[in-house]
Amino acid sequence: MKRFTRMTILAALCVPLLITATSAIPPPSVRALAGTPLPGERWDPGSMRLPFGPQVCEIAADSVHSYDALHLEIEIQPDIPADLFDAVVTMSVVSNEDPLSQLSFHLAGCTIDSILADGEAVAYSAAGELVTITFDNPPPLGDTVDVTVVYSGLLRGNNYFGGMIYSSTNDVLYTFGEPYTTRYWLACYDLPFDKVTSRVTVIMDSEYRVLSNGVRTEEVEIAPGVTRTVWDNPDPISTYLISLAAHPYAVIDGGTGGENDIPVSFWAYRPDSAQAAYEFGRTAEMIDVFEGLFGPYPFNKYDQAMAPIFNGWGAMEHQTATTYGYRLVEYGGRTFESIVAHELGHQWWGDMVGPLTFAHIWLNEGFASYADALWAEHLSSSAFHGRMSSFRDSYMYEDNNELRYPIYDPPPNFLFGSAIYDKGAWVLHMLRYLMGDDDFFAGLQLYGQTYAYGSATIDEFQGAMELASGLDLDSFFDEWIYQAGYPIYHFSNLVPRLQGDGTYTASLELYQSQTNAPIFTIPLPLKFFTSGRDTLVRVEVAPERTQTLNITGLEFSPTWMSYDPEQWILALADVTEVAEGGEGVPRSFVLSSPWPNPFNAETSLEISLPRRGEWSVDVFDLLGRRVARLADGVQAPGVHRVLWRPDAGTSSGVYWIRVIAPGGEATRRVVLLK
Ligand SMILES: [Zn+2]
Repeated sequence: MKRFTRMTILAALCVPLLITATSAIPPPSVRALAGTPLPGERWDPGSMRLPFGPQVCEIAADSVHSYDALHLEIEIQPDIPADLFDAVVTMSVVSNEDPLSQLSFHLAGCTIDSILADGEAVAYSAAGELVTITFDNPPPLGDTVDVTVVYSGLLRGNNYFGGMIYSSTNDVLYTFGEPYTTRYWLACYDLPFDKVTSRVTVIMDSEYRVLSNGVRTEEVEIAPGVTRTVWDNPDPISTYLISLAAHPYAVIDGGTGGENDIPVSFWAYRPDSAQAAYEFGRTAEMIDVFEGLFGPYPFNKYDQAMAPIFNGWGAMEHQTATTYGYRLVEYGGRTFESIVAHELGHQWWGDMVGPLTFAHIWLNEGFASYADALWAEHLSSSAFHGRMSSFRDSYMYEDNNELRYPIYDPPPNFLFGSAIYDKGAWVLHMLRYLMGDDDFFAGLQLYGQTYAYGSATIDEFQGAMELASGLDLDSFFDEWIYQAGYPIYHFSNLVPRLQGDGTYTASLELYQSQTNAPIFTIPLPLKFFTSGRDTLVRVEVAPERTQTLNITGLEFSPTWMSYDPEQWILALADVTEVAEGGEGVPRSFVLSSPWPNPFNAETSLEISLPRRGEWSVDVFDLLGRRVARLADGVQAPGVHRVLWRPDAGTSSGVYWIRVIAPGGEATRRVVLLK
């Protein structure tokens, strides 16, 4: 699922600019949905955060309940003029108890006509959103029973975010059920882990084309002006992903994608047909790209249908049948192609592998958001970094202005918050950095294959990634998933030193200033420079707020460093103190006496620099002729050792070593004895 706020729309629109400029962040007062009501639509941006009522809090769920739902046979007959629908739903379930004396399922806001068990009427009671039936003949453990519920419900207006919705303005009938509103139109066990197969039959006015999950097996006029459409879905599906969308759609052939030639179609408002064909036009190519990264597309077709979902500014990854906000199409220019990628990514992450409970919603939204970035990466490196930058900006905006919370089990109002989506994408990006591309994508595919058509937890995902990489990822998941926030790094006092073997070490002070967050231990990519040379080093970080990083094996004396030049880490970082002189940086320029002196093979001096700048170290003979240059270019503050190893042609005698550097200049006398 993806819905846009003004902030994220700005970020999306600013992608090409983010390389060089930071998008303006609007004040909280305008951070509401960007859509304005169309005539006849009521719109309440304030309802965004609590659209579902208290049932959102029903995060906890057992993976085992008294029965296992196998299949849903769903027949819906909408009556649009009356704002009603009639439904006959048969749940095939297997008893997990011996015997199963009672059975509870979800149904809310509907009027029950009758309930049958294997064709016989049974007694039932309703409380809240649960309906409980009491069997006259309780099925024993392992027996299958068909429970048929005959009921009617309300078509809700487009200002609702759940149930079965009819927008008169758009003339679209559609459903929305995440996390817990499928029960407002469908009698079912409405928690995500108990997947079913499904068949959706819709009987309605023939002017509508009806889309649902799976493959259409029937579309016939059964009476003048009345058509029955049947969609068979043979693949396990979570109830929140069961959907229908109906409108006088133009159905556009989008070609085929993937190694199994998955058919792709776009269900467009007729006046928007050409625009939709363009906006969705690269879907088949996206399937190819994602198959290369995630493994085979897991279902037998992929459709996208325009609807006024989230007032036209959002989308929902209904299994094989994404519902896509019409305004995202009409905006044009493939501005929101990232949402096409996001919802397609969900077909693997969320649909093929679902969350055991919505406490694990990161497995859906962080992954779909990263899929969106991976599509951008397929297009260009700058597009990729633009997406990741916009994710970082959105997350830090939410973190600064709304709430800091962990990715695992977020507060109900932030189930679809920026930390889940945007920080969530960054967490995957950092895992990719830790594991390397080969292991990262192998781990993703291992996770996908292991839990395909079922449900998973974040812990199980961690296990798959550890198996693929051989890494212990406990501290990574603890810091980034189970705790909140992000690191703020301050680097200072880069001090290189020459070692006996001719290599250099460097020490660097690191201070993490974040509060209400853990100390982060992800190794840091640091790039060290001297004039004309550089090297990228992965530096281990200890779980300490203040520490000295020790970098060894450098082939040159670094004069400067840059933090995370390839943008792998979600953090704020301050490297200015490396130049400006933090704690431990010399207060003034000091040149030591050479040692040894006199010398034969080599001698050295220590030079203390209070700040970064141009320097030179030269050797002159008594006639003032320069015989060697020992150092030049830009040097960092710190204490530097400079070595003079005269070549064979240098004769015995007295020489002067002259240092010109920020903060001063000085000369030392040295005697070479051959
Ligand atoms: Zn999503």
